[in-house]
Amino acid sequence: MSDFETSEEFIKSLLRKFALLNAISHGGKPDKGAVIGRILAERADLRNQSKKISLFAAEVVGEISLIPLNQQKETLEKESPDFLAQELDRRREISRRDAERGTTLPPLPGAIQGKVVTRFPPEPNGFMHIGHAKAAILGSSYARKYDGKFLMRFDDTNPAAEKKEFYTAFLEAFSWLKIKPDLVRNASDDMEKFYALAEKMIRESTAFICTCPQELMREMRGKGEPCLHRLHTVDQNLELWSKMQRGEIEKNEATLRFVGDMKSLNTTMRDPVLFRIVDQAHPIQGSKYRIWPTYDFDGAVEDSLDGVTHAMRSKEYELRDELYHAVLKALKMREPEIVEFSRLALQNTTVSKRNLKKLILEGKVEGWDDPRLPTIAGLRRRGFVPEAIQEFILSMGLSKVESLPTWDLLESFNRKILDPMAKRYFFVADPVQMFVQGAPILDLRLRYHPEEKYGERVVRTNGDFLLPESDVKSMNVGTIIRLIEAYNVRILEKREGKILASYIGNEKLEVAQKVQWVSQSEKTALRVKIPGPLLLGEEFNPGSMKIVSGFAESAVREIPLGDIVQFVRFGFCRMDEVGTAILAHK
Ligand SMILES: [Zn+2]
Repeated sequence: MSDFETSEEFIKSLLRKFALLNAISHGGKPDKGAVIGRILAERADLRNQSKKISLFAAEVVGEISLIPLNQQKETLEKESPDFLAQELDRRREISRRDAERGTTLPPLPGAIQGKVVTRFPPEPNGFMHIGHAKAAILGSSYARKYDGKFLMRFDDTNPAAEKKEFYTAFLEAFSWLKIKPDLVRNASDDMEKFYALAEKMIRESTAFICTCPQELMREMRGKGEPCLHRLHTVDQNLELWSKMQRGEIEKNEATLRFVGDMKSLNTTMRDPVLFRIVDQAHPIQGSKYRIWPTYDFDGAVEDSLDGVTHAMRSKEYELRDELYHAVLKALKMREPEIVEFSRLALQNTTVSKRNLKKLILEGKVEGWDDPRLPTIAGLRRRGFVPEAIQEFILSMGLSKVESLPTWDLLESFNRKILDPMAKRYFFVADPVQMFVQGAPILDLRLRYHPEEKYGERVVRTNGDFLLPESDVKSMNVGTIIRLIEAYNVRILEKREGKILASYIGNEKLEVAQKVQWVSQSEKTALRVKIPGPLLLGEEFNPGSMKIVSGFAESAVREIPLGDIVQFVRFGFCRMDEVGTAILAHK
C-alpha cells in the first residue's frame, strides 16, 4: 500500500466519493454509518485504517450535506466520473443477477447494507424438505442481497427427537443446494449460557418452577388461570432448579415457566414452558445435560446472541412472535426483527415429519430420499436440479399467502434449466417389435442435443426395431409413420403383438406420425420408475409409484449414475441405479 493510500487526503477523497453517492440515493442526506460500512466492505485493504476513516467521516459527511441535492450528482460526475460509471455498472450487475434469479426480493425492514445477519435454524429430527429449503434460500439470498452474513444453526435442544444422521443429512442437502452458510453451529453448544440465563430469569422473577402435572398445566392454561407455583420465592425456585439438575425430580414433574400473562388472548403467552427435563441422551452432548430449553427460549436467545438482525420465520409461528420478543425483553437482550413468510409444501405429498416417518416405517416409501417425497434428498433423486429449486422458491419471495403449489410449477423451472443441457436418448417403454422389409442397413449419426457441442453417437439399424406400445395402438394397416431421425415406413401387418412394415424412403412427409424406436441389435434393458401423487386427499395412494419396463439404445449404458437425461418423447429421467432410471417429469 502506498503512503498516499493511507494519507488523510486519500481517505477524505474516498469518503467524499462514497458520501456523495450515498447522498444521491438518500435524498441528499448521506448516512455516515452506511458510507463507512460501504468503504470497509469494498476496501479490505483499508480495514486497519477504520479509525481514521471514522474520524474523518463526520467532517466529510457534513460537507456533503451542505451541497444542495440537485448539485450533488453533478459534483460527483465532475469529480469522479469513472467511479459513478462503475457504480452504475455494479447496480446493473446486481439487478441482472436478481433478474437471473427470477425475482427481486423486497427490501427487509431496517436493513443496512453489510450489516444484515440471517439464519436458518432447523431441528435435526428428520430430513430437509422443500419447506426448510424456502427458509434457508430466503435467508441466504437476503444475506447475499445485503452483503451480510448467513448462519445455519441446528436447533438441537430436544434429545428425544434428534439424531446424528439428520445433522449430516441437512448438511448434505445444503451443499447440494449450493447454499453456503458463513457459519454452521449448534444451539446445544450454548447450554451453559442457557442455564445462566435461566437462573437470571429465576433471580429476576421472570420465570418460575412449576411442578403441576402436565394435564393440569394444560387445563389451567386453557382456562387462563395461574397456578400456585407462580408464588414460589426466588430461593424456592433456585432450590427446585438445582434439584432438577441433580436428577432429584423426575421427567414431567417440573418445568421452568415464563411469567407471562394467563389472561392473554394469545394462549402462547400463558406462562409457557421454557425448560423441561428430557432424559434421552443427546446425539452430541450425550448425557451431560437433562434440562433442555424449548424452542421458544433457545430460538429467541440464540438469534440475539448470534447477532441475527432479521429472523425469518414461517407464518405458522405467528402466535409465538409475541413470546419471542417477551423472552428477550425479560432478559434485556437485543431483539431481532422478525420477518414472516408463508409456509411451503407441495400438493399431494407431505412435509409433516410425523407423516413422513410413518410412511417410511410402514415401508410405503423407499426412505427419506423416495422420489415421491418433497425432501431435498427425494427431489434430488427424482432429477430436480438445485437451481430449479432456488428459482422456484425465489419466485414466491416473501409472499405471505399460504401456498400449496403443484409439482407442475416446480417442474416448469426444472425443465427450463434441463432442456438446454440434458442429452437426449431413445427409450421405448412396453416395447413392440417391428420388422421393416427392404430396410437398408444404416449407421445413423445422431446428435445428443440440437446443440452441436454435446456430440453424437452412431446407431446401427438393420430394419429390426422396437416401438412403444402406446404409439403402436394408434397405428393401422396402411398408415405411414416416421421413425424419428431415420426414415418412413408403411404398416403392412399387425399380428400377435408384432408389426410388419415396408421401407418407403426418408423424405420428410407431413402426414407421418413420428415414432420413437430402439434398434433391436443395439438395445439395453431399462426400467423407469414413475413417481405419481403420494397422497390422494389425506390417504396414501397405493398406485403412486409405477414402473415401466422397456429398452433404451445401448449408449444409455454409458450414462453415469446420477446424471439427468431426456428420453425423447418420454421425459427427463435421472439414472438411479444400473438398469433403473426415475422419471422426473415430461
Ligand atoms: Zn404449577
